[in-house]
Amino acid sequence: MTAQTAIPIVAIVGRPNVGKSTLFNRFIGEREAIVFDTPGVTRDRKYGTVEWAGSTFTVIDTGGYVPRSEDVFEQAIREQAHFAIEEADAVVFLVDAIDGLNPLDKELADILRMSRKPIHVAVNKVDGAKRDQDDAEFFALGLGKPHPIAALGGRQVGDFLDVITNGFSRRPRIPKDRRLKIAIVGKPNVGKSSVVNALLGVKRQVVTDVPGTTRDPVDAILTYEGEEIVLVDTAGLRKRSKIVESIEFYSALRTLKALERCDVAVILLDASEGVDKQDVHIVDAVVEHRRSAVIAVNKWDLVDKETNTALQYERAIRDRLGLHEHFPIVFVSALTRQRVAKIVELAKEVDVEQRRKITTSKLNRILMADIEQTPPSAKGPKEIRIKYVTQVRSAPPLFAFFCNEPTLVQENYRRFLENRIRHHFGFAGVPIGIAFKAK
Ligand code: GDP
Repeated sequence: MTAQTAIPIVAIVGRPNVGKSTLFNRFIGEREAIVFDTPGVTRDRKYGTVEWAGSTFTVIDTGGYVPRSEDVFEQAIREQAHFAIEEADAVVFLVDAIDGLNPLDKELADILRMSRKPIHVAVNKVDGAKRDQDDAEFFALGLGKPHPIAALGGRQVGDFLDVITNGFSRRPRIPKDRRLKIAIVGKPNVGKSSVVNALLGVKRQVVTDVPGTTRDPVDAILTYEGEEIVLVDTAGLRKRSKIVESIEFYSALRTLKALERCDVAVILLDASEGVDKQDVHIVDAVVEHRRSAVIAVNKWDLVDKETNTALQYERAIRDRLGLHEHFPIVFVSALTRQRVAKIVELAKEVDVEQRRKITTSKLNRILMADIEQTPPSAKGPKEIRIKYVTQVRSAPPLFAFFCNEPTLVQENYRRFLENRIRHHFGFAGVPIGIAFKAK
């Protein structure tokens, strides 16, 4: 049987000011130097992809979710540590060599010690060898050997990344599941649980454990027209907290995790509210994970309808989504169950779409005409000539354009080609990858 491993998630936890976001940036920074940016993706991220020595993982910075109000922040940090050990595949526990051991560190250690997940203690701000002995006191946390690092200058960060990524090789492999896996994602309170319940046709969620794995979230199985469909990680929908930042942190963690495991994402929006920053972040996460998706606008029952409302609403959403306006949109109500089945239908359509393969002869016949008519322009004196195109991968599709000067092709030309591909071949809801290669 073939097996797959989802990309692991690593959460950085620790009290404020120990250097979590600096470490996060250091992790991410390594990557941005070698991987091209995804167009249209928001910059101020609290999570990102790290590539290190042949391993890839997603890192999430809990520090981005610390509340402003003093009276809840310690509680929020504790809750986030709980969420992290439950949902992440490994935890980086960051402490501060200059401050030394702090009561909140000890408390966090008590929480983290309950977990069977790998916990890596990093002692930050160890800027020189003379400080190396400083990390000794952190042995008392009872979480194994502390790793002295300096997130700012980068000292020993590479060694620490080795320690983190070495831990992944021991992760269990998940047997490949041929059933369509759908993840319902969206900000808190858009109605994710309600939609899942409406789809399952029951008040209480029916959940089944994936056998043989302890780290896997709980999935629900939906039978749709005789076909079994997996609704990914429905147990994760039930978590509740009173602290806004903890909810957001948990929600982000859960979104990333569900995205890793799904074939198609359903991005849920709330019809009674506009598309806000949080929604855009979720769309960005879907795009970054290169997942195919449909958009479902829930709570449609709350909207006063005139003849054109749906159309106007749809236009407004597509405007807001910019580059990602190709996602199919459906208006639903979990409350009245209006059109909820359509969500599954669209997800199935998008899945068929992402698996399509266009023959090389057809691609060239159609696209080369467009390219001849609108050739790429280089910044410098050199002329860029595209020779031919072929689809090198599907689910999601990747098209390789062979040309003389692949590095000189500009971003707007990539977008032009993507638009032409969508125009001729569809791929609604599917991310299209475009690569320029040397002939
Ligand atoms: P989640 O956090 O995304 O899982 O959201 P929930 O499913 O818990 O729903 C949040 C709130 O919105 C609850 O009070 C639901 O009853 C309400 N809700 C969910 N779907 C609908 C809907 O289609 N119409 C209306 N009017 N309310 C809804």
